[in-house]
Amino acid sequence: MTVGMDSHHANGSAHATHTNGYSNGHQELNGYAASKSPLKSDGFSTLAIHVGSEPDPVTGAVIPPISLSTTFAQSSVGVHKGYEYSRSGNPNRDALEKLLASLEAGGGSALTFGSGSAATGAVLAMIGRGGHVLSVNDVYGGTWRYLKRVAGELQGVETTFVDLEEAAEEEIYSAIRDDTKLIWIETPTNPTLRVVDIPAIVSIARRHPSKPLVLVDNTFLSPFYSSPLILGADIVLHSLTKYINGHSDVVMGAVIVPPHHTQLIERLRFLQNAMGAVPSAYDSWLAQRGAKTLGVRMRAHGENALALAKVLQQRPEVEEVIYPGLATHKRNAVAWRGVSAHAKKWISRTTDTSADTFDFPYGGMISVRIRGGYPAAGRFLEQLRLFTLAESLGGVESLAEHPAGMTHSGLPEEQRQKLGISGGLVRLSVGIEDGDDLITDVVKALERKWASVSSSGLKYAVKWRSLGNASLSVAVRVQVT
Ligand SMILES: *Cc1c(COP(=O)(O)O)cnc(C)c1O
Repeated sequence: MTVGMDSHHANGSAHATHTNGYSNGHQELNGYAASKSPLKSDGFSTLAIHVGSEPDPVTGAVIPPISLSTTFAQSSVGVHKGYEYSRSGNPNRDALEKLLASLEAGGGSALTFGSGSAATGAVLAMIGRGGHVLSVNDVYGGTWRYLKRVAGELQGVETTFVDLEEAAEEEIYSAIRDDTKLIWIETPTNPTLRVVDIPAIVSIARRHPSKPLVLVDNTFLSPFYSSPLILGADIVLHSLTKYINGHSDVVMGAVIVPPHHTQLIERLRFLQNAMGAVPSAYDSWLAQRGAKTLGVRMRAHGENALALAKVLQQRPEVEEVIYPGLATHKRNAVAWRGVSAHAKKWISRTTDTSADTFDFPYGGMISVRIRGGYPAAGRFLEQLRLFTLAESLGGVESLAEHPAGMTHSGLPEEQRQKLGISGGLVRLSVGIEDGDDLITDVVKALERKWASVSSSGLKYAVKWRSLGNASLSVAVRVQVT
């Protein structure tokens, strides 16, 4: 519990920051918490389970209670225990923010929002009229829409989209303008899993006289596989909706900044409170519970995804498997360089990491090009049993989706073509079910896809002659579902 640690004045000016758990506000606990606080040497999962989850100082409850109160008693005017009004701060949100600041290596303070998009909104509101943003071209669809339609059309913030994977250094440098305030990186990108070299972009930003901040949307890898702040980024953004909560039952977002950015965090904290897109206490509690298992889940996601990617590579029905953890991925070495220290330590235990390229677990997202374009990809998706056809990602359950027809249908066709979002492209969010079951599911769906093509083709011919066109769709439907 963080009672007594923070003061949350509505003007957002006088806050203690949510430090990363190494200092604490538990003096009131007879010295109990002071001697049992997390240590700097504690590993990823130790922090995930303990930071922000200290036993309740009043009751001793091992799991923090959910504090639903919207307002907090004051003993005299302006004198309170650190909380006034729940939009400005509440115990569950504070506990989660403290946890996130400690899980994101190099983090000093974290702020949570009602969604990843609300976090995006707060960061872009901070840029202000007349500011310019340089963004990776293959950015998350909702971020693209926010940059174009909200920041661009309503807030006077212009964005240039650049292929930060392929562009030469000079090209990126010269795309930075006098008024560039922010470089927006996402890596790997969605859905084509382009890998951006974070330290390379940071060094370009630092060299440029405009000194833009560098933000990394770390949603796809989570703090387990990637530590952008350690690589020099100024802000990390997450959709907690995905891996960090991990159970597909909370929509939430966060930003995390390193300890030296005190003005930046105060500005963002002001916007968090003033714009008001805050998460509920209940959702904060759920997300904290989810985050406790982030380490074990990310290892399982990575192992399952790598095993499945290797099998998919051998399949005749598959044109291309995109998974940066495969030795054959063109950015395999860049991806490995960017892996967090704790994930490298785990991977090195079982993998020879001395070669130039090698297979290693790298998150749970795989994109696959199915031979035969949309019709084949659509049939494949319908044949899956364990992978549910649905948008989103990062939950314990496996999901599959068709970017061109679902998550990225809002992009103009020309833009989709440029980015390689073709009709045959399928995105898999590999869950943590038993890996062999997932492989069997995908292989069977690939095989059945072809069977259904030929047998529905046969049915088509038979039905067409005997019953006519009207019952055709019924016949085909029965065949493929
Ligand atoms: C989902 C997602 C977002 C947006 O987050 P929401 O919680 O859905 O608002 C931003 N970036 C990436 C990479 C995402 O996957």
